[in-house]
Order: sequence, then C-alpha cells, then structure tokens
Amino acid sequence: MRKVLSYVVPILLCFGVGVIGSMLQTSALEEWYPTLVRSPLTPPNIVFPIAWSVLYLLMGVSIGVLVSRGDMSVVRLWLLQLLVNFLWSVVFFALRSPLAGLITILLLDVLVFTYIIYAASRRLLAAWLMVPYLLWLFFATYLNGYIYLHNRLRAGDVVKVVVAQPNVTKTDKIMNYTMPSLPYSADALAPLMSRETIDYHYGKHLQTYVDNLNRLAVGSPCEGMTLDSLVVHADGALFNNAAQVWNHTLFFNTLTPTQTDMPAELRRAIERDFGGVDAFKEQFTKAATSLFGSGWVWLVEDKDGRLSIVSTSNAGNPLRSGLNPLLTLDVWEHAYYIDHRNRRADFVRDWWRLLDWKRVTSRIKHKQPAMAQ
Ligand code: MN
Repeated sequence: MRKVLSYVVPILLCFGVGVIGSMLQTSALEEWYPTLVRSPLTPPNIVFPIAWSVLYLLMGVSIGVLVSRGDMSVVRLWLLQLLVNFLWSVVFFALRSPLAGLITILLLDVLVFTYIIYAASRRLLAAWLMVPYLLWLFFATYLNGYIYLHNRLRAGDVVKVVVAQPNVTKTDKIMNYTMPSLPYSADALAPLMSRETIDYHYGKHLQTYVDNLNRLAVGSPCEGMTLDSLVVHADGALFNNAAQVWNHTLFFNTLTPTQTDMPAELRRAIERDFGGVDAFKEQFTKAATSLFGSGWVWLVEDKDGRLSIVSTSNAGNPLRSGLNPLLTLDVWEHAYYIDHRNRRADFVRDWWRLLDWKRVTSRIKHKQPAMAQ
C-alpha cells in the first residue's frame, strides 16, 4: 500500500499543479498569447496538455521509484522543481511577463538537471524518466526566450491596449511623447524674447519635462494614454511632467514674430465677457503679476462658450476643470529670468507683443453667439 501511495501521491500532485496552472492560463491563452510573436517551431496548442500529461506521469513515477525504495534524499529537490514549474505558469501566463518566465524556466532547467544527476547516482531508471522532461524544458526555454526577444515593447510599437477608465483616451501605440516643433526660428522673437531664452526655456526646460514624461509613463498604469488624458487623469510626478509639456506646447505655439490683429470673433467674445480688449489685458496682466510663485495664467472657454481668466499654480491645467484653454502665459521664473531678470511685469508687457491672435481664435470650440446688445 505504501508502495502504491509513493507513486500515486506525486502523480496526483503533478496533475494538480497542471490543472491549476492551466486554469491560470485560460484568459491569457485567449487574449494575450495569440497576439505574441512566436517561434515558427511552436507546436499547436493541443500538443501542450498531451505532452505535459505524459511528462507529469514520468515525473511522478521517477520520484515514486526512489520513495518506494525508502530513498527520501531528493524529495525536497523534486518538490522544489515542481513548485518552480508552477511558478513559471504564474509569471508567464498570469503576470504575462516573458522575461520573468524566461528567468524562472532557466532556474527550472538547472533544478531538473541537478535532480537527474542526483537520481542517476542512486537509481538509473528514476533518472532516465526525467530526461524527456528536461528535453521538453529546453524546448520550452527556447520558445519562452523567442517570445521574450521578439515581443519587447519599444516606443511606437503597436500593441493591444485595455482601456481602464471610460473617459481615458489611449492610443493603440506606446506613446512616445515628443518635443513640439516651434513655428518660428529660435532668434525670431528677439529682442522681446531672446534666442538664449528660447534655447533654455524651450531647449532645456521643456526638453527635460518631455524626457521625464517618457521615463515615467513607460510601465506605469498610464502607459499609452494621450497627453490630454494624462493631463486630466494622472497624478503626482506623471501629471506634473505631462501638464508642463502640454502647457509649454500651448505657450510656445501662441507666439509669433509677426503680430496679427485680433480676429473679430475673438474680439466680440472678449468685449462681451470682459467689457473690452483693454479691460481684458488689464485683468490678465494683473493676474499674471500677482500670481504668487510658479504657475500659469490662462484665457479659457467654458462649456457655454464664455471666456474667463484662470490662474493655476505650478503645472496646473484648466483641462482638469473641463475648461478649454485658448491662451496661456508661463510665469515661472525660468520663462523670463534671462531677458528680464526679476521683472515679471516687463516680461508680461513684452509677451503681449508676441501673440498670434489667429491661433488663439482658432482654438475656440463653441460658435460664438452674436454679441448680445
Ligand atoms: Mn516654462
């Protein structure tokens, strides 16, 4: 009876591990595994349960032979390799990590090889029974390694994206956030905004935010989100860097070396909501010079098409309040320190002379009603 049990128990253990492992694989086999680039040598799915059934049987008999002879010396090693075998199912299929799977299966190779050497030194049959298993593991290591090497994500790779929140916009690509291009040359805004300011503000400060954003987004739950969605939904460092990229993009894309007249549509809206263009400029300038510390001042449009001035501190962005930004002024010290030193008011005065009102007007989403008289 004991002899029978010494075979039956390990075989049942193997199949138990196999059944639980395959339960973990079900959703991965449907959703994830078919999307992977796999080796041309990959057998059809049906081969795997058949192969594993035979191998579990051989694995159970192998340890059974030793245990029935009263040789308990390698039981722990055998159990350990079975545990690692199970672990491989978990990391590869449940965690869907080909790299962790590869590391785990390499460990399994070593354990099974060691077991065979041990078993061979005690009982030849018990050793040979594990050889097909080891060969299968080598093959599985190759398949796992192939999947790892051919499915590593790079910026721009097309992948399936699961959208976690209804309002979040994700793209079908891993986003690679890039520097916005300037619609003018670096020295075009001088002397109101010098080339050196552009070199530092655009070339260094904004570049740092873009670099940080790419570094933080990869591997985060927000990976693949559009910049707009990040600004609305992300928090902490990811939000700070995403919003700074967004804000600076609007800021630099609103400047022009050739001043344009304010189009009538915007002029009418400003007259309606601020009582006149001069009154608007005065209120905006006051908001910009009185904002304490670092931040942004915005001209925004609400859901009804009404315009207002909003101040946000640090990386704050009105998109989070459901507002549509038309225009923004960066009042971080880095925006003006080179040209104007500590004189923020002088910077604001010069900035008014660099605005592209056509672009500002083009951002209006609501058709402006005719001016109410
Ligand atoms: Mn800035």
